[in-house]
Amino acid sequence: MKNIAVIGAGTMGNGIAHTFAQFNYNVQLIDISQNSLDNGIATISRNLDRMVLKEKISESDKNKTLENITTYTSIKEGTKYAGLVIEAATENLDLKLQIFKELDSVCPDDTILASNTSSISITQIAAATQRPDKVIGMHFMNPVPIMKLVEIIRGYSTSKEVTDFTIKLSKKINKTPVEVNDYPGFVANRILMPMINESIETLYNGVAGVQEIDTVMKLGMAHPMGPLQLADFIGLDVCLSILEVMYDGFKNPKYAPCPLLVNMVRAGKYGIKSGEGFYDYSESKKALKIAKQFA
Ligand code: NAD
Repeated sequence: MKNIAVIGAGTMGNGIAHTFAQFNYNVQLIDISQNSLDNGIATISRNLDRMVLKEKISESDKNKTLENITTYTSIKEGTKYAGLVIEAATENLDLKLQIFKELDSVCPDDTILASNTSSISITQIAAATQRPDKVIGMHFMNPVPIMKLVEIIRGYSTSKEVTDFTIKLSKKINKTPVEVNDYPGFVANRILMPMINESIETLYNGVAGVQEIDTVMKLGMAHPMGPLQLADFIGLDVCLSILEVMYDGFKNPKYAPCPLLVNMVRAGKYGIKSGEGFYDYSESKKALKIAKQFA
């Protein structure tokens, strides 16, 4: 399989396109917005420049990687020859169901359809198609070119062949796949989000301040980043929506989002992307540097 179509050129889509293109796959990068496609290619180019600067790849590797990516604004055009489509569009159930319906009608019968969703049920997405055995989750981590893990999520009807194929393919792009079953939050977010929620609850209860909570987890538990800073990085709106999916899915109060998180999202404090979350990114030079790196 040489042709991989990626839907969505945002944070995750451009990282996924970058990674496959670097490993010599032909990537068809698709987005409804030409502006997103232009920004996506500019981000990939900037990230490749950084790799050249660090001498991880050569200038000609960079050029070859960019040549391997073609952009499209039409799903039908971009997926004509794709053996695998990886959907990384905006996290919205109705949008994903509509995209998968369209993919199912325009892609060749044997095309595998994957979603990079952080929280939506793969089984539910698969049910929108006539090929639920060929629908699977490929949950990459941000930033994709750097993070090794891919959660491979097996929906209720995903076949063993498709799972095995996806695992093999992930290894070919130098990732470490981990197979998990399709339940809310999968594994990564099921464990991470309650930890983040509990740190927000700890702050909300006045047990300690932002810096103190993050320092305890960094120095005491050897986490590279404190949970509140990590929440800012992921996006507080994203954390809230994942917790809501888990709360709805399990009907268990332990996943109920902390009222402080809900309030901050209502106030538009989304973390790095809005300039303020638990930290103020307009003032800290270090935080601004991190923000720019991931913009
Ligand atoms: P993003 O907002 O950065 O990008 C989404 C892109 O999808 C935008 O460019 C938008 O124009 C495009 N889009 C919207 N509707 C479309 C359509 N109908 N057809 C084609 N393109 C369309 O979002 P993101 O952070 O890259 O997240 C994408 C997916 O990856 C989500 O499902 C999210 O849950 C998942 N995810 C995100 C992260 C993260 O850290 N950001 C981590 C893991 C998984």
